[in-house]
Amino acid sequence: MATVTYDKATRVYPGADKPAVDQLDIQIADGEFLVLVGPSGCGKSTSLRMLAGLEDVNDGAIHIGDRDVTHLPPKDRDIAMVFQNYALYPHMTVAQNMGFALKIAGVNKADIRTKVEEAAKILDLTEFLDRKPKALSGGQRQRVAMGRAIVREPQVFLMDEPLSNLDAKLRVQTRTQIAGLQRRLGVTTVYVTHDQVEAMTMGDRVAVLKDGLLQQIDTPRHMYDKP
Ligand code: ADP
Ligand code: ADP
Repeated sequence: MATVTYDKATRVYPGADKPAVDQLDIQIADGEFLVLVGPSGCGKSTSLRMLAGLEDVNDGAIHIGDRDVTHLPPKDRDIAMVFQNYALYPHMTVAQNMGFALKIAGVNKADIRTKVEEAAKILDLTEFLDRKPKALSGGQRQRVAMGRAIVREPQVFLMDEPLSNLDAKLRVQTRTQIAGLQRRLGVTTVYVTHDQVEAMTMGDRVAVLKDGLLQQIDTPRHMYDKP
């Protein structure tokens, strides 16, 4: 676990006439669930991708804990990201999908098995470990994608619209599961959505972006009180 600090982090895409994210300043507490919300194009994904190391920071800095990660490659940041398209490997079982990153990292088989089994228990996936992704529902696949991230025990969890491929009912169920899971794991989480209700129900705090600028950041409770 760790704090995350955006310190006037700015991203200007090549050829753009203004920043996609303009001097973003946010301090995220250890174990906090922070939601970035706002309309399409406001800079949510860019903010998340800067934290992940997938997008250059042109000005300002980003810290994870006391480490300046601004110019570190993704693999050195101790983060795990869940994307909206789950991108599971179709030829691998659920267990193999969940253990793959650890296998690549050279973790021994017994430890991988233990971690995969623990994550499967938390995510209610134990009975599906030997199935292929195509034999799972959308919600189950989404949990496998979370499982792949969890087994790496990252300091920070990043999610970019992880529920956007699910139907409305499943989305409500899954957001409750994700919020519950995050609280149990206590891992610092940055979650991107364009859905205001999702933001308000899931976040410890909600940061509202507009045209690359931070408009407001507060707890859902206090947010309702303000215009
Ligand atoms: P959001 O996630 O809120 O939809 P983005 O961070 O994707 O917003 O985009 C913010 C702004 O940056 C938008 O104006 C978008 O068109 C622009 N943008 C995003 N990605 C790129 C890119 N790879 N190259 C150029 N402009 C981009
Ligand atoms: P490999 O291809 O490396 O011989 P497998 O393809 O059987 O091994 O599994 C890949 C990884 O997933 C292994 O590290 C294994 O520990 C884990 N794994 C496979 N099946 C299960 C399972 N049913 N429960 C927990 N972990 C499993």
